[in-house]
Amino acid sequence: MTSTLSTPATASTQLSPGREVGVAVIGSGFAGLGLAIRLRQQGQTDFVVLERGDDVGGTWRDNTYPGAACDVQSNLYSFSFAPNADWPRTYSAQPEIQAYLRDTAERFDVLRHCVFGAEVTDARWDDAARRWRVRTTAGEVSARVLVSAAGSLADPALPDIPGLATFAGEVMHSARWNGDHDLTGEQVAVIGTGASAIQIVPAIQPQVAGLAVYQRTPPWVVPRGDRPVKPSARRMYRRFPAAQKAVRGALYAGREALVVGMAKQRRLLKPVGRTAKAHLDRQVRDRQLRAALTPDYTIGCKRILISNDYYPAVSAPNAEVVTAGIAEVRPHSIVTRDGVERPTDTIVLATGFAVTDPPIAHRITGREGRTLAEVWNEGMVTNRGCAVAGFPNLFLLVGPNVGVGHTSMVYMIESQLNYVLDALRTMADEQLEVLETTPQAQAAYRQLIAERSTGTVWLAGGCGSWYIDRHGHNTTLWPDFTFRFRRLTRRLDRENYVGTPARGTRSEGAA
Ligand SMILES: Cc1cc2nc3c(=O)[nH]c(=O)nc-3n(C[C@H](O)[C@H](O)[C@H](O)COP(=O)(O)OP(=O)(O)OC[C@H]3O[C@@H](n4cnc5c(N)ncnc54)[C@H](O)[C@@H]3O)c2cc1C
Repeated sequence: MTSTLSTPATASTQLSPGREVGVAVIGSGFAGLGLAIRLRQQGQTDFVVLERGDDVGGTWRDNTYPGAACDVQSNLYSFSFAPNADWPRTYSAQPEIQAYLRDTAERFDVLRHCVFGAEVTDARWDDAARRWRVRTTAGEVSARVLVSAAGSLADPALPDIPGLATFAGEVMHSARWNGDHDLTGEQVAVIGTGASAIQIVPAIQPQVAGLAVYQRTPPWVVPRGDRPVKPSARRMYRRFPAAQKAVRGALYAGREALVVGMAKQRRLLKPVGRTAKAHLDRQVRDRQLRAALTPDYTIGCKRILISNDYYPAVSAPNAEVVTAGIAEVRPHSIVTRDGVERPTDTIVLATGFAVTDPPIAHRITGREGRTLAEVWNEGMVTNRGCAVAGFPNLFLLVGPNVGVGHTSMVYMIESQLNYVLDALRTMADEQLEVLETTPQAQAAYRQLIAERSTGTVWLAGGCGSWYIDRHGHNTTLWPDFTFRFRRLTRRLDRENYVGTPARGTRSEGAA
C-alpha cells in the first residue's frame, strides 16, 4: 500500500470517480473503526471505510432506544489501544459509548478515510484485474483487498406475524428507534425478551399507560453491578493507566472463568443459575408471574442478561407478561392464540437481528460468480472466522463463530485485527497480489468448531437460540476460551493460503 495522504480531513459523502484503494472496509463500528485505526498506526493511508450510516459507531450509533447500554463493563468493552479514563459508569450508556467511538475516530484521525452514506450494494471479485469492484450508493471503488466489518447485529430481524403490516400505530424495531414518537400514556407492546427488551421495558414502563411484554422464552437474568465511577478512580486511571489496565485484566479473567461452565463442565454453571433464580425470587412476589418468568433451560444456553429493574418493571400494575403467543396483529390491537385482544398504540419489535443469514453475504460475489450467501447455504464455513475459499483478498471481521456472549466482543475484534494486519503484511512482504485460503483449511476449521461445540451449553443446554443455524450448527459463537482464539489469530496461518505474486515479479506463479 502507498502512504500518500490525499483524503480530506473529515469524512466525505461521495467516492471520487475511478477511485482505487489498497483496502476497502465495509462498516465503521468497533470492527471497521478498529481496523482503520490500526492501519493508520502503521502509517497506512491507502484505504477507505464505506459506511451506510451518517456517522461512525455501528451498533452504538443505531441503538438509541431508551435504556440502551452495554452489558460488559466499559473498562473491558473498549479498545485496548484507546483506554478511556472517563467512563461515567461501570456499564456505560449508549450516548457515552457512541461519543467514545466518535472521539476515538477523531483522535486517531481516521474520519478522513470514511465515506458516509455509502451503502455497499455489490462487491465482485474481478479475477483479471485481481481486485474487488465495489459498488456503493455513494459511487464505486476498486480495492485490492476487501474487509467486511458490516456487523452481525446490524440488520434488524423482523418477525413474520400475520397482520403486522396492517397495524395503524407506530411500529419500531429496537435498533431503529423513533425518538420523536412520544409513548406517554400509550398502550405499548414489546415483542421479545432478549438483551434489548430487558433494557427498554424498565425505561418506558413508568411513562406508558399499559405495557404488554410478549414473551416466547424467558431469559435468565442476574443482578447488574452498575454504579457511577468515582472521580477518584477516574483520576487514578488518568495518572496511572496501568491501574485501569489491571482492572481490565481482572474483568477479563473473571468473565473467562464462565467458559469453563459454558463450554467444558456444564455443572459448574449451577451456582450462576442459583444466583439468577434467587434474583427472580427476590424481585417477583407473584407466583404466577414468577412461574412465567422462570426459564426451563440451562443458564448460559441463551445470553445471560443483567438487570436490576426488569423484574420490578414487569411486576408493575401497568405491565403484564404475555406468554400465549401472538396469533395476529390488527390495526389497533394484538390478538393472542388464547383469543385475548389487547388494544395497542405502539409496537416495539425487540426481535433481534439477521445473524445467521447476514444481508452483506448476498452482496459479495467471489471468484466463481457465487455470493457468500450461496456458498454458505449449507452453513457458514470460514478459516478462523476471517477468510473464505473462493473469495480471494476478502477478510471478515466478526464473521461466523467469532461471537461471544460472556465477554467483550472488542477482544475478539482485536484478535481478528492482528490476523488481517498480518495478512496485509504478508502480501506486501511477498509482493502478492492475491491471497486466498484453501478449502482444506476451511474444512479443518469447521471440524475444530464442531468438536469444541459438542457438549457446550449452547448446543446441549435445551434452548433454541440465534446462536444455532437452521441446520443445528453453531455458526455464530466461538466455543472456547477467547485467549485461544487470540492465539489462533495472532498471525496469518500462511500454510493455509495460496498466494499469487504480482505480475512481472520473479516468483509469479508460485504458491
Ligand atoms: C443493543 C446492543 C448491545 C450490545 N452490547 C454489547 C456489550 O455490552 N458487549 C459486547 O461485547 N457486545 C455487545 N453488543 C454486540 C455489538 O454488536 C458488538 O460488540 C460490536 O459493537 C460490533 O461491532 P461491529 O463493528 O462488528 O458491528 P456494528 O457495530 O454493527 O457495525 C457495522 C457497521 O457496518 C455498517 N454496514 C452494514 N452493512 C453495510 C453495507 N452494506 N454498506 C455499508 N455499511 C454497512 C453498519 O451501518 C454499521 O455501522 C451489543 C449489540 C447490541 C445490538
